[in-house]
Amino acid sequence: MEYFADLHVHIGEAKKQPVKITASRKLTLGNICDYCINKKGIDIVGIVDCASPYVLQEISDYIKMGELIPLSGGGLRYKDDLTIILGAEIETTEINGAAHSIAFFPHYGQMKDFSELISNYITNITLSSQKARLAARDLLKIVRNLDGELVPAHVFTPFKSFYGNCYDRLSTAFEDELRYITTVELGLSADTEFADTIRELSTKTFLSNSDAHSLEKIAREYNKINLQFPDFHNLLSALQRRDDNFVMYNYGLRPELGKYHRTFCPDCGYIATEEPPVKCCPHCKNYAVTLGVLDRITLIADLKYPIHPHHRPLYQYQIPLEFIPGIGQKTIDILIQAFGTEMNVIHKTNRAQLTEVVGEQKANNIVLAREGKLGLKVGGGGFYGKVFYKNV
Ligand SMILES: [Zn+2]
Ligand SMILES: [Zn+2]
Repeated sequence: MEYFADLHVHIGEAKKQPVKITASRKLTLGNICDYCINKKGIDIVGIVDCASPYVLQEISDYIKMGELIPLSGGGLRYKDDLTIILGAEIETTEINGAAHSIAFFPHYGQMKDFSELISNYITNITLSSQKARLAARDLLKIVRNLDGELVPAHVFTPFKSFYGNCYDRLSTAFEDELRYITTVELGLSADTEFADTIRELSTKTFLSNSDAHSLEKIAREYNKINLQFPDFHNLLSALQRRDDNFVMYNYGLRPELGKYHRTFCPDCGYIATEEPPVKCCPHCKNYAVTLGVLDRITLIADLKYPIHPHHRPLYQYQIPLEFIPGIGQKTIDILIQAFGTEMNVIHKTNRAQLTEVVGEQKANNIVLAREGKLGLKVGGGGFYGKVFYKNV
């Protein structure tokens, strides 16, 4: 069976306490479940703040009330419509900076044990993505001892990622243990074309997730995964590409739209358009720039052109509805009401059906975005790229 999965969603609040400070307080466990099912059409969601004792408490309450059913193969089932995968995004201390990884666990017990263990290294365990006083290699050992899986997160972003600000190679971080890393998360400003210019990634599975800090942003990137059954065990074997479980598609933004795609100069606000790598602002000659993901990958690539291994799924570009000019939240709500979920709007509608619901002009914009015929202004330095009409 095919499942839509977004494995990086944050929690804003649990047990009425803040968890991810920068995330919307509406991002609660209950709202995420409802939003995934009723608005987005997501079948498997990874919640990455489960090391917070508030989140654990809330999950435990849901289990006691019978709202969440633990699956024997790991993961929790909500209303027989959605599987929740328990995880925690952790910031490790590396030689040149800090990097994010997500530790996923099969069952509540292991998640709780992990929370207790990792709290020895973290000052405020109740909050999301906190800095841990240990290196990724040591984190990997802890995670593996609890039957978990460690996935380096948004690996190219200029802050807090392995390639972005720590290492030229993941093997420097993990050494011999790199073989236990089966999967990396690409992040919004990167795609398969970029990542497959780094040789050591050819054996790794790629995930494209939303890193949502609000309900609306869930599934702005996601994956279609073929699984025998939607539980942790099968998901893990998909990441390892075993037993006919595998990632079928990565769906993601055009990397140009990501907010760190090109080098950005904080002094003059210029976003580079020159041939990568741009290491210094071409306008004001400032060297203290925020390196773009494209610029960084161009610097560290060891292949001139991407070589895709045979197992690499298609990376399908997608412009989320909210990025499309003329499509506001009201229109999105009308579309979801008409077609059930955002996944249905994106994957199962044609121009005529869209026109019937939102009129010719909006339908046309959606189709142009789908076909990649809208213009793109690239993002950088924390500013998303923009989509606009071009005359074709
Ligand atoms: Zn992160
Ligand atoms: Zn995150």
